[in-house]
Amino acid sequence: MDSHEPLIFEMSRAERRGANLPDCDVERTDPALLLGAANLRDSLPLPEVSELDVVRHFTRLSQRNYAIDTGFYPLGSCTMKYNPRINERTASLPGFAGLHPLQPVETAQGALELIYLLQQHLADICGMYATTLQPSAGAHGELLSMMMIKAYHADRGDTKRKVVVIPDSAHGTNPASAASCGFKVKGIPSNSKGCTDLEQLKAALGDDTAALMLTNPNTVGLFESDITEICRLVHEAGGLVYCDGANMNAMLGLTRPGDMGFDVMHFNLHKTFSTPHGGGGPGCGAVSVKQLLEPYLPIPVVGKDEQSGKYAFDHARPKSIGKIHSFYGAFLIAVRAYTYIRALGPKGLRAVGENAVINANYIRTQLQESYDVAYGNPICMHEVVLTASRQKQRSGVRALDISKRLMDYGIHPPTNYFPLIVPEALMIEPTETESKQTLDHFIGVMKKIAVEAIECPEQLKTAPHFTPVSRLDETLAVKSLDLRYEPLFTDSEPKQ
Ligand SMILES: *Cc1c(COP(=O)(O)O)cnc(C)c1O
Repeated sequence: MDSHEPLIFEMSRAERRGANLPDCDVERTDPALLLGAANLRDSLPLPEVSELDVVRHFTRLSQRNYAIDTGFYPLGSCTMKYNPRINERTASLPGFAGLHPLQPVETAQGALELIYLLQQHLADICGMYATTLQPSAGAHGELLSMMMIKAYHADRGDTKRKVVVIPDSAHGTNPASAASCGFKVKGIPSNSKGCTDLEQLKAALGDDTAALMLTNPNTVGLFESDITEICRLVHEAGGLVYCDGANMNAMLGLTRPGDMGFDVMHFNLHKTFSTPHGGGGPGCGAVSVKQLLEPYLPIPVVGKDEQSGKYAFDHARPKSIGKIHSFYGAFLIAVRAYTYIRALGPKGLRAVGENAVINANYIRTQLQESYDVAYGNPICMHEVVLTASRQKQRSGVRALDISKRLMDYGIHPPTNYFPLIVPEALMIEPTETESKQTLDHFIGVMKKIAVEAIECPEQLKTAPHFTPVSRLDETLAVKSLDLRYEPLFTDSEPKQ
């Protein structure tokens, strides 16, 4: 932060107030009686500021944020698409926003109906049988999927299935989820085209296989064209097939994992279905399953009594893996995703899939002379993986330098160094919500940077030059993140 921009603590002036409360008109209870004297402190050095000071402080901080609402955000595998404002409108309807989770279900029938319908829509979209909205995030959905697969094998007395097979291109959360669930992870190398190698897969499968975890389109942005054969091989070995469906954009309305042979998948509603990516806040990694896994879904399941038309929570499910979230997950996220699906309808969803793929391929074709395309010739899906190997060889410019330079041009960098199997990876996912003008601007900047990499590589290696802070020690920034501001009092010293 620049020193001439005071933060909230430096703005503090003794006795300045931002709130004007009426005099207390109830008898005051001694706080020591309520909380215990040991829990009370003598002073609480909060900033003493006016309402205007607070508004300016937080508005200024918000202007430091880069967001999908301020600019192009091509972060591959993250699907940073526009979050339509109508989603916020419906999520703020008092009947939804004011609900209490312990409210009697007779008074929350509309909310239960929305949950029920969203579950059905998601199952229809991916070709499965049933859905739960409980998991908070994609990784949470992965973990739940692994727990259900474990319960399925255990239920059949098939106790030797302890291995989960995962291609080396997978998102890091996949092996982490399998291991957290107590499985042994067996990695298999991808083939030279960036897809699952059938021979490697066959060699990895056996009577200890619990499941295969696969991302499709995979993390190099390619559709696994052998997918039906892959699923057949895993099933033949007695395992189940899990689809990491975090990035469903390329398949929406075009093809369905359930039809390809997958048994279970998770969605990221905060990617594909336009709900906000919260900074660790409430999200939803909905999980859809085929009928064979339905008994293991977490409780409660929202059911509908066809005769009365009433909705209710079903807790009486003996095979359920139990609960993985308080109450029924992040309900207002479900409202947003439901709004998105209903606003677009089947044709609109299909157009999302088509345009996501067209936009990524437009970038690929426009940039393939300036950069090497890692995989994805002649076609990629919703994202394209470039590599800066050429730039690194020629002038020592790395993917990281290119990304830092993009920030000087006011553009959020793409994903760097993922997938791990691509050296100097730049993984670009434009999403369908960007216009041709925005894509052309990005392409123009990327071409300019490719020229700079040849003519003035130092300019890139020292970038960014125009951001509030320059290059950080990335390891330190991750390992010892310091989020606490130490107050530096000016003329309003805390009273001791
Ligand atoms: C984003 C992502 C995940 C994890 O989702 P979170 O909500 O961040 O936990 C898993 N797999 C893939 C392929 C992803 O892109």
